[in-house]
Amino acid sequence: MALTSISLPSLQKLASGKVRDLFALDDADKLLFVASDRLSAFDVVMKNGIPNKGAILTLASAHWFRVLAERIPGLKTHFIGLDAPAGLTADEARAIRHRSMQVRKLNVIKIEAIVRGYLTGSAWNEYQAKGTVHGLAMPPGMRLSERFPEPIYTPSTKADQGEHDENIHPDDAWREIGDRETARRVQELSLQIYKTAAAYAEERGIIIADTKFEFARDDEGAIYLVDEVLTPDSSRFWPKDGYEVGRDQDSFDKQIVRNWLIKEGLKRREGVEMPRDICEATERRYKEVFVKLTGQDFDEVVKE
Ligand code: ATP
Ligand code: MG
Repeated sequence: MALTSISLPSLQKLASGKVRDLFALDDADKLLFVASDRLSAFDVVMKNGIPNKGAILTLASAHWFRVLAERIPGLKTHFIGLDAPAGLTADEARAIRHRSMQVRKLNVIKIEAIVRGYLTGSAWNEYQAKGTVHGLAMPPGMRLSERFPEPIYTPSTKADQGEHDENIHPDDAWREIGDRETARRVQELSLQIYKTAAAYAEERGIIIADTKFEFARDDEGAIYLVDEVLTPDSSRFWPKDGYEVGRDQDSFDKQIVRNWLIKEGLKRREGVEMPRDICEATERRYKEVFVKLTGQDFDEVVKE
């Protein structure tokens, strides 16, 4: 069964996003970050969820936080640990098993820090129309799914609830963020993390076509990597095996749901219920990419 709403009466709920719910902990510097099984596509949350999705996203993010911290000296992340906090009832602890993490509570920087290694999605649409990606000139004659000469930082605004994110030129990101030095650092970190992760994933047969990071600051202004990282919700993952320029790739993410919504004419419609076969296929895809990236079988991990 998919869990679409998280109720923890023992803790105070601070916020509820499209996928995650945030709860206060006794230590005011920390949060309990809980991923539900909700799925959002085209910025709209589906009525039903994908079984195990919250746990897959949480465990995949935890894996990446460890991998990245090991490979990028000095990288700060919000990740504290996967232990459940003290003081929950047995039912509450069971409900959030494998889907919660304790994180540092920080001030989120209002930018979606997107990095693209390959030409696809909205970038492909813009490129076909204007030869640019987020206003950046790109080499002529590029084809769908082609690798960029270098990964590019293509931020978008972090829209308030109900609004859609807007693609912006990297040089304009500081206007959203407030200062140029933070904007520069976010761009530099985004590219560094993408390159590190892309090399790691490629060794495991996965191409990270693009991904989105979020960053935050503590009260002293230090910058942290936060939110979920390099999950199938925040990234386009392609199998390296079978990758071919000039066509769409068979991606390990919620593309199955997006394609179904488009086919049914349900794109951006509220309250859509996904049929069982679409949910099952999506769950399988999420599990497939989990084992490839972490080397661990999801069902084995959660059995313990
Ligand atoms: P949003 O549009 O706000 O990103 P979302 O629907 O993507 O919403 P979720 O992923 O469901 O949001 O919820 C996670 C929320 O927690 C996001 O708003 C994210 O910015 C915020 N967040 C992530 N890490 C932290 C942190 N360390 N401290 C405070 N807030 C955080
Ligand atoms: Mg999010």
